[in-house]
Amino acid sequence: MNASDRHENHNSADKGFRKYLHSILIFLVFETIAVVLWLAKGNLFYLFNFTYIGASLALGLFLFTRKVPHARRIVQLLVGLYMLVYLGIICRENMQIEGFWYYLFLGTFEAATIHYAVAKIFGPLLFGRGWCGYACWTAMVLDFLPYRIPKAPRKKLGFLRYVTFSGSLALVIGLFLTVRNGLEKIMFLLFLIGNILYYAIGILLAFLFKDNRAFCKYLCPITVFLKPMSYFSLARIQVDTDRCINCHRCERVCPMDVKILDPSRKRENGTECILCMECKNACPKQAIR
Ligand code: SF4
Ligand code: SF4
Repeated sequence: MNASDRHENHNSADKGFRKYLHSILIFLVFETIAVVLWLAKGNLFYLFNFTYIGASLALGLFLFTRKVPHARRIVQLLVGLYMLVYLGIICRENMQIEGFWYYLFLGTFEAATIHYAVAKIFGPLLFGRGWCGYACWTAMVLDFLPYRIPKAPRKKLGFLRYVTFSGSLALVIGLFLTVRNGLEKIMFLLFLIGNILYYAIGILLAFLFKDNRAFCKYLCPITVFLKPMSYFSLARIQVDTDRCINCHRCERVCPMDVKILDPSRKRENGTECILCMECKNACPKQAIR
């Protein structure tokens, strides 16, 4: 093998490595969190938990890079079912927003408070609303409904998210003030009832508005945390203007109505992006990064 062949081999290995850089980086970020929390809290659970989530996300990105169909759905099921069935139902950790308020008022930095800090409050500065695209167990089900691309324009109902957000806070404050015993048990029941309600309302809204993600757009209380933080997100969809031919295909397939062609952070519905990459798949010029 001559020097030029060796140089070419080296270049293609380098390109191959770069292709999977996102996948490696996301695993390393979660593994760092796993090790830090394991050592800080002296609890092996954190090592297992965040390694599992990081490995699932890295696998999804790896599959996506290799253009494997349904890569995102695979991650949604791996992470969503783990959180709903294992953490929520088997381990009885209330990971819903009521669980977050509950642990916050108890002053405990465990389970739901750690989960919110990583996935929904500080994490979005790095990976935006990746939670909504790859891990949320409510959206995991909604994404199987028939209106992946919304069939009707967005409604002006976003204010409702502040009503559900305040309602969840008021509910937990009320419980703290009135219930003396058995609050843990009530929180578990709330988790079950809350999830059944979310699924029922989410499915109803999807059919009513012909839009799978209507629940995410109008009602989900978590977006009150997610939207402002993801405004500053490091990971964001950008368009290479040299390649773009302004066909607007990306905007037509976006489930969250993001005005992708506007490069600014203030673009319409910019903080709604769930990094699902439907726009990237639809672009005929590979202009989306
Ligand atoms: S907006 Fe709410 S329900 Fe929708 S994916 Fe995000 S966290 Fe889940
Ligand atoms: S289609 Fe593109 S802009 Fe729209 S939510 Fe998905 S990744 Fe974000």
